[in-house]
Amino acid sequence: MPTKIVATINSTGRQAASFIRAASAVGWHVKAQIRSQDGLVAEELADLPNVEFIEGDLAGPERGRLLAGLFANVRIAFINTTHWGDEVAIGKACADAAKKAGVVHYIYSSMPDHSTFGNGWRALPMWATKFAIENYVRQIGIPATFVYTGIYNNNFTSLPYPLFQMELQDDGSFEWQAPFHPEDPLPWLDAEHDVGPALLQIFKMGPNHWKGQRVTLAFERLTPLQCCARFSRGLGRPVRYIHAPIDIKVTIPSGYREQLDILQEVLGEKRAPYFPSLEYPREGRSIWEGYRGIEEYAREVFPIEEYANGLRWMEEPPSVGGGDVLSEQGGDGADSEVGGSVQFMGSSRPITPSGINTPVRFSGAYAPRSHPEGLNDDFFVGSM
Ligand code: NAD
Repeated sequence: MPTKIVATINSTGRQAASFIRAASAVGWHVKAQIRSQDGLVAEELADLPNVEFIEGDLAGPERGRLLAGLFANVRIAFINTTHWGDEVAIGKACADAAKKAGVVHYIYSSMPDHSTFGNGWRALPMWATKFAIENYVRQIGIPATFVYTGIYNNNFTSLPYPLFQMELQDDGSFEWQAPFHPEDPLPWLDAEHDVGPALLQIFKMGPNHWKGQRVTLAFERLTPLQCCARFSRGLGRPVRYIHAPIDIKVTIPSGYREQLDILQEVLGEKRAPYFPSLEYPREGRSIWEGYRGIEEYAREVFPIEEYANGLRWMEEPPSVGGGDVLSEQGGDGADSEVGGSVQFMGSSRPITPSGINTPVRFSGAYAPRSHPEGLNDDFFVGSM
């Protein structure tokens, strides 16, 4: 008989699915809202013990009924809203339903609003919505903890999506182009691997310990140069960092373009910290020490996800080795790097060989697990 009943929404998303796997594994009963039972993640979750689906769209008129059903008999909840629908309205409705149900520990996945720090930083629109919801949750007084999730390792893909494309070169090496200063630290998280066990621990320690607190779920603090060095070690191929504006090669919705423009200005040009005034990775590691770092991700997971996306570069040996080593010292010393293959190319856009033609759509491909909506017309990668 399950000891705890926990509610989740957007349950096929990377954060919630990670938590559901962990909660189910320790025998908790999960009431998991999903939009539909189609797709690989929904199929996987359906096979887990003690997972009960609450099926329906939170963006639609059935929201009230869905949430009443979701929170019935629930005392703890992990809520991660997304940009689909009116995020703030959905976030507030979840909080109201949780309060009505008497939830005693509510974990909300938040993000910062950079405009609240002054300094002329603008709010990143797709993050500020989460901060507004955090404030609402605080206002209505549910015992809550706010997790701030770092950049997912598996945002990286060689498909031509903006910001985290790890672009395959003709010689088998990779390049990552982004506007982050090469030596500014960034928070990294393997969402699928580490969100679940970390949340489980926060729930186990309970609201008395964590009520009102912000917890950064980022287990590595790495500059782009350090990240590429580790990625290179993991893959056994050179990985170069190109410090340059975001290259948008595919059609993206206007809201996402605005997010990327402001990200480039605030985090890139103005060099605002990704998570101003939040500590990481020490606290995260004290909660969950078995995290998967970017090097392990690059070695063990990236090629598999790429293969599932229909790419086959991992079957060809690269024509360059991982040998052109350049040492990098770490920004804050939390993680220092020696090794890998890293090259800082300056701020101008280099001429990159066209390389392998990576199709955005290909018939018969698996839906990429890392990007559940990949290949759909309206696909884009979350907040990034
Ligand atoms: P995900 O990106 O892995 O999955 C997307 C979710 O959205 C799935 O649950 C999917 O079913 C749902 N969805 C897809 N199409 C939809 C539609 N038309 N209507 C309603 N729902 C739809 O999800 P995730 O990563 O667990 O959560 C996404 C949130 O995480 C975003 O708000 C993003 O800002 C935030 N986030 C992402 C990162 C990152 O590095 N990618 C970091 C921090 C926070």
